[in-house]
Amino acid sequence: MPVGGRKVAPQVVELEEARVTSTISGREWDVSGGPSRMLMPRVLTDYTQRGFEAIRALAGGESLEWCYGCGKCVPVCPVDLVGEYGPRKLHRMVQTGTNLFEADQLWMCTTCGNCLRVCPKQVNMIQIMPAVREVAVADGTIPTELQGVMEKTFRYGNALGENPRRRHAWTKGAGVPVRVLSQDPSPVDVLFYVEDYWSYHPRGQQAAQAFARVLNAAGVDFAILGAEEKTIGDSQRLAGEKGLFEALMEDVVATLERYEFRRIVTPDPHGFNALVKVYPSYGHHYEVLHYTQLLAPLMSSLELTNPIDAKVTFHDPCYLGRHNGVYDAPREVLRAIPGLELIEMGRCRENSYCCGGGGGGMWLDGFNGNHLSERLSERRVREAAATGADILAVCCPYEVSRFEDAAKSTGNEHLRVLDIAELVDMAMAPALAGQVG
Ligand code: SF4
Ligand code: SF4
Repeated sequence: MPVGGRKVAPQVVELEEARVTSTISGREWDVSGGPSRMLMPRVLTDYTQRGFEAIRALAGGESLEWCYGCGKCVPVCPVDLVGEYGPRKLHRMVQTGTNLFEADQLWMCTTCGNCLRVCPKQVNMIQIMPAVREVAVADGTIPTELQGVMEKTFRYGNALGENPRRRHAWTKGAGVPVRVLSQDPSPVDVLFYVEDYWSYHPRGQQAAQAFARVLNAAGVDFAILGAEEKTIGDSQRLAGEKGLFEALMEDVVATLERYEFRRIVTPDPHGFNALVKVYPSYGHHYEVLHYTQLLAPLMSSLELTNPIDAKVTFHDPCYLGRHNGVYDAPREVLRAIPGLELIEMGRCRENSYCCGGGGGGMWLDGFNGNHLSERLSERRVREAAATGADILAVCCPYEVSRFEDAAKSTGNEHLRVLDIAELVDMAMAPALAGQVG
């Protein structure tokens, strides 16, 4: 082609009659017809823009229509593995006329983030879902069980609807002193933000007590807020209650301003996510650690006199791993426990499967059950059991109860579900020797 010349497209010739001869059979084929469809403007009649217009108008909803249907997101979507889901399928539903604002599918995404990790078009369900759900919440088309959780959170400051005055009742069984800042407001190094499920759920309370014993043994200067603590409410935000989240944030920030501390440590990846990623966008900045990040460098200073001779597999919480890149700290803690053999599941780290609890899913197992062959937690427990592990180690307060239920319902009762804090505590306690495995 001459440099600087103008490329001239070849003249298209439509033959009235065209015959080709097969080089194999020698047979003749008539391939004549009308003008090639490739050269004709297509009349698109099978989809509508209406749904996208409404979603695009919401801050955060813009990217759903960017999907170009490559399908990469579907095989990594944990919900699709037990049902029909994934951004591509949602995109197609909206394209063919489904009103996402009123569809059951609006509540099935756990905002686990695995689709965004692989999507070439940055279709962002972490932003789309809360934006669309916020409208549904305002319109009152929210599943009843989720509505109940929002009301309890609004009324009591926790998702379980428990008495705020009993938030630190768990400390009585810890066996070590746990300072409550309202009773002793002197400056403290670590503000232990306990969150709802470690404060109130019986299995969470055991993990909170174990963690307090570990902190005590490691000589960490720590304290809790006790009755002054309210949930950070990140799952409520992702489930569409941004207003509730913002009201909670005002209360949390006002409480934190009353005390002097160096860093916040929380066991809850959801609270951790909000403090690290969302609070700064409102101008609130804190040094925040997940409790495994605090523990990892302390492990060498602990006297771990009780080896845990067991095979252990570990579940990465979506909001700790994929959302915030913390994969190594929990594994460092586990590997430092004498006797413990860590076995990875096929889906781990960036590609970890979701327990089903994120983005409001914690409270929607019944609602979503109509659309799924099994709960996500059940599928994950079967993956954990398939490794041959004795113990499934977790480090998110949602997971102990979810996976214990799933171990029972899938016939995998032999698989013990233990929080990492409980495992470290057991390794410190000679009296418990032989109880694990
Ligand atoms: S990966 Fe992204 S672009 Fe590809 S189908 Fe999924 S949402 Fe659409
Ligand atoms: S965020 Fe997770 S659950 Fe939601 S569509 Fe993406 S992969 Fe599926």
